Amino acid sequence: MPRLSSRLLDWYKKNKRSMPWRDHPDPYAVWVSEIMLQQTRVETVIAYFEKWMKLFPDIPALAKADEQAVLNAWEGLGYYSRARNIHKAAKIVAEKFNGELPRNLEDLRSLPGIGRYTVGAIASIAFKMDEPTLDGNLRRVFSRVYDISEFADSPAGEKILWGLAAENLPKGQAGDYNQALMDIGATICQPKKPRCLLCPLMEICKARENGTQELRPVLKAKKAAPQYVHAAAVIVERGRVLLSQRPADGLLGGMWEFPNARVETDPAKELTKALNAAYRLKVKRKEALGVVQHAYTHFKVTVHAFRCESVSIPKDKKLKWVKLVELDDFPMGKVDRQIANKM
Ligand code: SF4
Repeated sequence: MPRLSSRLLDWYKKNKRSMPWRDHPDPYAVWVSEIMLQQTRVETVIAYFEKWMKLFPDIPALAKADEQAVLNAWEGLGYYSRARNIHKAAKIVAEKFNGELPRNLEDLRSLPGIGRYTVGAIASIAFKMDEPTLDGNLRRVFSRVYDISEFADSPAGEKILWGLAAENLPKGQAGDYNQALMDIGATICQPKKPRCLLCPLMEICKARENGTQELRPVLKAKKAAPQYVHAAAVIVERGRVLLSQRPADGLLGGMWEFPNARVETDPAKELTKALNAAYRLKVKRKEALGVVQHAYTHFKVTVHAFRCESVSIPKDKKLKWVKLVELDDFPMGKVDRQIANKM
């Protein structure tokens, strides 16, 4: 579809969104922004990006940073494995590539947290290479413009969509082409109620012609997310509070939380037994502090927080007394930060 890229580029010239990492194609800035933008809206990312670039202005600075400082700077953005991976990758780049992101695509792809999408984005935007990319926005736009009925999240669908992204790519202008598609997907070709009348692709869009816009992309049905209930203990003694550090890998890896455990039906009754089983921590339950709910990608959790007094605390590296005045320096997920704010 030759008209697709020229329409996109014309539209982009007049309508591109202003973002702090655009027009300064420093590969590090493009990399940070692309990782932050995964699963997160531009409006949220801008403030995080600006703070991040002040704290860690280049790859060597990030490589030298302490993991707690990195997680702290990411706190609130979610999907914390992104922060741990960018930190790990910065250390590799500092050591192996002299502190500069490699231009070789295989080397780039070998870095933690950099997948096919991020390689395409960095290569096209920062290195001006003729590389396609495909994120959720681009997947939706191509699925609609070509009215693709294949599952977009299946290997066959992915192949078709990557093929379309590549075959429409205008030589020498891949960065603008990819960013135009990102912007159109985010602001016009939205998941629900696409604004076709404002779209530069309206006249060539097959889904628009067939009235199938809201049926594209076709995605596999998601399983309902399980719902868990946890009980958490807030133990404050002599101006300090007891926190527990999560394992380095996995959900919220390396972040801090109030000691907590999953319960079945009655958080107040089950709290002491559950904490003893999880940490060998013995507590006396006092009053309820509140209930916090959160939806992660694959499950939902409701956490009942109680003020507690300690009876006995095991020697355990993951448990730590933290001064209340220093609580903000310990990176936490949304649930625990809300509990901290309730104290
Ligand atoms: S015409 Fe509508 S459905 Fe087609 S790409 Fe544009 S906004 Fe999306």
